[in-house]
Order: sequence, then structure tokens, then C-alpha cells
Amino acid sequence: MSLDIHVFRTLSDNAGALIRDPATHACAAVDVPDAGQVLAAAEEKGWTITDIFVTHAHFDHTQGVAAVKQATGATVYGPADAKDAAPLDHVVGEGDRVPLGGFVFDTWHTPGHSDGHLTYVGEQTRLALVGDVVFVMGCGRVQPGQLPAMWTSLSRIMALPDETKLITGHDYTLANARFAMAMDPANAALKARFAEAEAAKAEGRFWAQTTIGEEKATNPFFRASEGALAAAVGLVGAQAGEVFAALREAKNRF
Ligand SMILES: [Zn+2]
Repeated sequence: MSLDIHVFRTLSDNAGALIRDPATHACAAVDVPDAGQVLAAAEEKGWTITDIFVTHAHFDHTQGVAAVKQATGATVYGPADAKDAAPLDHVVGEGDRVPLGGFVFDTWHTPGHSDGHLTYVGEQTRLALVGDVVFVMGCGRVQPGQLPAMWTSLSRIMALPDETKLITGHDYTLANARFAMAMDPANAALKARFAEAEAAKAEGRFWAQTTIGEEKATNPFFRASEGALAAAVGLVGAQAGEVFAALREAKNRF
């Protein structure tokens, strides 16, 4: 049994995401970048939002939460440091479990991009809501001094089964693909995906979903333990966490 998933553009590049249990019709919005756009998407699908899962406190993920809660009466889950940004009914963190109809998501604390960042992991349904930790062929910006924490967070997510679907927080896919090509130019899977990213951009197709397996094949940050990526940042023989940090700094300058 799997959840119905609808991912769509909000604001300029934020992902709006609705996930619904087809049996009970429980439906969660994953963050609310824009209340009007998220409510309109739910209406278009004929779905009623019952829950809101907040991944992290940043304004572009939380600014619409209060209005959607007011419009729908949804129950809001999120990390403690999002309390000022969104009306949370339940503060959740590492080790908590959040229900959605007949499904359950484990909440993981995955800091680095923001202090309280959560990843919601649905093991039965092989779906993880990764917010701004992972992007298609990329990863989120990292707070000063938080590169080791971000590497720990990414490493945990990378260990999920390859078929696990990821819903990410933004479509930065083409920009990420360009950086990935600069770092990993001999990677055939990446070349194909770069071409797909160019086509998606040309067609105006929103792209913020991926899988663990696809990221392992093409995402330079997931591939920090590969010799080619270590060589790209001049760190042959270094530990993957150090290569990751150098890649993230190279992306900041790219
Ligand atoms: Zn963010």
C-alpha cells in the first residue's frame, strides 16, 4: 500500500507537497510555502488537508501554515524551533512517530541546514520527507560550523533503501546538475540526468522528487566517498566527511 503523492511548484522554486492515505483520506501538507497555492492544489485534487508536517522553521516553509490550519483545522507537527514560525499542535523530534491515516512516519532530527530540521521517514511506504537536507543532485546550504552535523544527517538518509522516494523542499535541479557535472564529469548516469534536467527546465516541469538510488548514482554529496569526487576537490585519500565539506564549500562558490 502506498500513499498518493502530489508535488507542485509554489512561490518560485519551493515544493508544495500533499501526501494522502487512499484508504482513510487523511492528507498531510508537507510544509506550507504559500497557503493559497497549497489549498488550491488540495481542492484541485479533491483532497482535504488533515495534517501539516513542518520540516524546519525557515519562513519559506512555514509562512502559510497558520492560514491552512485556520482554513482546514489541520493538526500541525514540527520541531521546537519552528514554534514561533508556525502554530504547532505537537512538537516532535528524534524518535517520535507521527500518524497519517493508516501510515506512520518516524521523525529524525537531521540538523545542518537548520538547527531543528526534521526528516519524516515512512518505512512501510518507503517515503522520506527531507525538506532542505537533500535536493535532486544536491543538498541544502549549511549553517556556519555545521558541516559535520550535515554530513551525519545526509549519511543517515543515504542509508535508507535505494527504492525510498524522497520529497525535497525546492527545485534547484538544473543548477545542482551543472555543479554535479563540473565535479563528476565522467559519470554516465549523471550525464543522462543532466540532459533530463535541461529538458525539464525547458518544459517548465517542476522537479523536486527523487529516490535514494538515483541520488547515490548522481548526487556529488552522496558520492563523497568515491575517488572521483575526492580528486575533484584535491582530497584523494581523505575521509568522506572531509570531501563532503570541500564539495559543499565549492558549491557555495560555484
Ligand atoms: Zn530552509
